[in-house]
Amino acid sequence: MNQTNRSIWVFADYRNYFQNRVTLQLLAKANDLATGMNAEVCAVVFGHETGEYAAEFIAHGAQKILVVERPSLNQYSVEKFTMLMEKLAGDYQPEIILIGATSFGREFAPRVAKRLGTGLTADCIGLEITPEGNLLQIAPSFGGNLIAEIITPDHRPQMATVRPGIFQELPHDNARRGEVVTLPMPNKLPRDRVRLVAYERRPNCDQKLEEAKIVVCGGRGMGSKLKFKKLFELAQLLSGEVGATRPIVYAGWIDDGALVGQAGKHIKPRLLFSFGISGAIQHTAATTDADFIIAVNKNPNATMMKMADVAVVADANQVCTALIRGLKERIQTKSDYLD
Ligand SMILES: Cc1cc2nc3c(=O)[nH]c(=O)nc-3n(C[C@H](O)[C@H](O)[C@H](O)COP(=O)(O)OP(=O)(O)OC[C@H]3O[C@@H](n4cnc5c(N)ncnc54)[C@H](O)[C@@H]3O)c2cc1C
Repeated sequence: MNQTNRSIWVFADYRNYFQNRVTLQLLAKANDLATGMNAEVCAVVFGHETGEYAAEFIAHGAQKILVVERPSLNQYSVEKFTMLMEKLAGDYQPEIILIGATSFGREFAPRVAKRLGTGLTADCIGLEITPEGNLLQIAPSFGGNLIAEIITPDHRPQMATVRPGIFQELPHDNARRGEVVTLPMPNKLPRDRVRLVAYERRPNCDQKLEEAKIVVCGGRGMGSKLKFKKLFELAQLLSGEVGATRPIVYAGWIDDGALVGQAGKHIKPRLLFSFGISGAIQHTAATTDADFIIAVNKNPNATMMKMADVAVVADANQVCTALIRGLKERIQTKSDYLD
């Protein structure tokens, strides 16, 4: 690769490929940004036997794949990957590095930024190029009460992490062409201080929430863990996914993969049910892309009720139960009719 080329790098996390779309979403955004600054879009892949993923990344908009392949890179290691990224970024001097704000990315990106002596904006919700050619990094700040616009004019690369679900991936197109550049493994990589004993996927953490067309979201107004469980039944009947506010996740009523909000996932369903949720900014910042909101709350003045297209002043648990009953009756009637 010509080392003077201006390039935008996307750290390509290919694990759990069919659910974890953040790399593809970043590639799409990088294409957008590249047009404004005449740069090429590179996916940076560390791993083992990654060929089929490279092809996928090209089909989704990567013009170049920089790959370091080794069996020992099969397991994601934050220490090894930091050193690799530091080395490559030092050699090739990208203008921008984008990293998905997954749990790995959130640990990896600040380490890389520190090593490169540059800044990092975490959890961006928007990225643009300024007229001066800097990356404008837009991110919630001060607990979500302010939206900050950050630039890194004096240091390169400009680095940002972005949560899954913020940008839209480009359609898969096999006609797109890209170059795969295999780079040598640097000689000195640290030995892992962490030994992976087993790998097990957590249930309820399959990242479908950001893509779901229907989301049933519950908050403290659901009353108890037992009552909250009804939302799973409702979501199943609607072929939707369950989301929750922070107190619910903290109370352990649901896995943290279901957290909707500034600290969790950004959702964009066609239909959002909001049961017993007050509508704090940290939560609603991630629901603004919902097409249609039905909110149920005892308090008609709750912010969520004001944001909703349909606001039902009622007990959340009772409405949920009634909806489940109604949907089951409809399904039963339909199947009777088909019989
Ligand atoms: C830095 C920071 C980051 C944060 N990040 C997030 C985040 O990512 N996501 C998030 O959700 N929160 C986040 N929070 C927390 C957020 O500020 C709110 O505290 C939280 O969203 C409130 O959750 P809730 O609506 O479930 O609870 P509450 O605010 O307690 O609201 C409960 C609602 O239920 C209603 N209600 C009560 N009983 C019933 C009933 N029987 N039937 C119907 N309605 C009823 C009440 O009227 C009320 O409106 C964050 C906070 C901070 C400081």
